Amino acid sequence: MDLSFTPAQIAFRSQVREWIQSALPPDMKAKAAADASFHREETMRWHKILYEKGWVAPHWPKEVGGPGLDVTERFILSEELELAGAPTLSPFGLGMVGPLIIQFGNKAQKERFLPKILSGEEVWCQGYSEPNAGSDLASLKLRAESDGKGHYVLNGQKTWTTYAQFADWIFVLARTEQGPKKQNGIGFFLVDMKTPGVLAKPFLTTGNTLAFCETWFENARVPAENVVGEPTMGWTYAKALLGHERTLVAGVGRSTRQIVRIKRIAQSTMIDGRPAFEHPGYRARIARLEMDLEALRMANYRTVAGAQLGKAPGPESSILKLRGTEIQQECYELMMDLMGTHALSWFNEPGTIPAREEAVASDHNYLRAATIYAGSNEIQKNIIAKMILDLPGT
Ligand SMILES: Cc1cc2nc3c(=O)[nH]c(=O)nc-3n(C[C@H](O)[C@H](O)[C@H](O)COP(=O)(O)OP(=O)(O)OC[C@H]3O[C@@H](n4cnc5c(N)ncnc54)[C@H](O)[C@@H]3O)c2cc1C
Repeated sequence: MDLSFTPAQIAFRSQVREWIQSALPPDMKAKAAADASFHREETMRWHKILYEKGWVAPHWPKEVGGPGLDVTERFILSEELELAGAPTLSPFGLGMVGPLIIQFGNKAQKERFLPKILSGEEVWCQGYSEPNAGSDLASLKLRAESDGKGHYVLNGQKTWTTYAQFADWIFVLARTEQGPKKQNGIGFFLVDMKTPGVLAKPFLTTGNTLAFCETWFENARVPAENVVGEPTMGWTYAKALLGHERTLVAGVGRSTRQIVRIKRIAQSTMIDGRPAFEHPGYRARIARLEMDLEALRMANYRTVAGAQLGKAPGPESSILKLRGTEIQQECYELMMDLMGTHALSWFNEPGTIPAREEAVASDHNYLRAATIYAGSNEIQKNIIAKMILDLPGT
């Protein structure tokens, strides 16, 4: 398989790179250079800039506002955005419910919801997980009962709902019927967060953020017109959604930036009078990470090249998720080891470490989640064992 880019793709990459440098506002450019985290306001500002350029939803078809890029161009755009350290847009509208409505929604739902997802006027969150339904999502218990008069009444609880406190809408999987299998009888609902009876309660994480909510539904009445497709077929739609943009899960651009950061920290951290970068142990760890990342980059290019030839990304995207998130975590482990107690910036005297490294510990803690969300890594290993390795007993 030929993994090299064509001259047209190389020219597109230069065009994207130049545009990002000219479009990224100076304050965000400074933050990107300092590896600082972006606030919601900055992310939304960047969303609007990408929207005006027509690149906010690279994978949406042209008829509904997408830019009409092919799979390799989409990949290049996403890789360049990561390499530039631009804010990462929320995936829930653009990457999840939007594509689902495009594929399974009716005309009225497309007209009502898609333009506002694109423009960023309406922000979405994801209501899948429950206290006893995570990896085994089909065990979900949130009930949706038809009142026979054009509404469903929702009762139950979701959890881990990222940024639900800021969202305008939530997409929810809820049980409408008891079917022969637990995957039957699930509906896919579009719910206005202002609906009486919907309550999002944030809770604090080890990264010291209020990024997640428990979301409660107490007799929340949802119009039947906000059910996507058939009210018992939500599982099928939710599963189909997993197929969207699986070429982008590896985060190679992000990890490439982190390796630059690791080298910077290793150059400025002294051990026994010498920069850590000169110590064989650290040099070996950095070299190992770079080799692993290069292998992942090649695996990612192979998936993109396959998709460009019309081959839908299959279970091999589990390898990208598995290794991509492991490498992201290894980058932060190495930074923490290099910085030692200085990484715990909240205990430092001001000026002990450069401001740009102050977020290392909280980012490290946040990234513990990367091997859990979007299908935990153990679940990805199950998929690889069954679908790729054909191991017995799986
Ligand atoms: C940062 C973050 C953001 C999230 N945001 C959202 C959100 O916005 N909306 C939403 O709906 N959900 C969200 N989630 C929830 C996420 O989808 C679940 O955490 C995930 O599906 C795992 O479910 P669980 O936490 O219930 O763990 P469990 O499913 O209980 O798993 C516990 C452990 O057992 C392992 N395990 C489970 N089953 C198997 C198996 N069959 N074989 C091998 N090992 C297994 C898992 O890998 C894990 O290590 C988020 C989670 C995190 C961490």
